[in-house]
Amino acid sequence: MRKPEPPSGPTRRDVFGLLEELDCWSCAYCDAPFGGSVEAEMDHVNPLAKGGVHDWSNIAPACRDCNRLKSDQDIADWLGLLAGPSSAECNSPDMQSG
Ligand SMILES: [Zn+2]
Repeated sequence: MRKPEPPSGPTRRDVFGLLEELDCWSCAYCDAPFGGSVEAEMDHVNPLAKGGVHDWSNIAPACRDCNRLKSDQDIADWLGLLAGPSSAECNSPDMQSG
């Protein structure tokens, strides 16, 4: 299976460092606060496998559970599965930039 290597772009450290600064330290999908047993992972909103880019506009912090469950589904499908996406204001990826 082909695994696209992310080109130079924000690293995990960049993303999580910024989130910590912004005090948005929770999962973008289920709003679970990171820390303790909830491990932060970097999710590509539009999966790389489906043509998504490794860029700030396409990266969201996700807990391991969400990241695993979402896998490479389209964001619309995934949010549909969640049946009520998080309404948190500060941790939704900005889809308009770029
Ligand atoms: Zn989550």
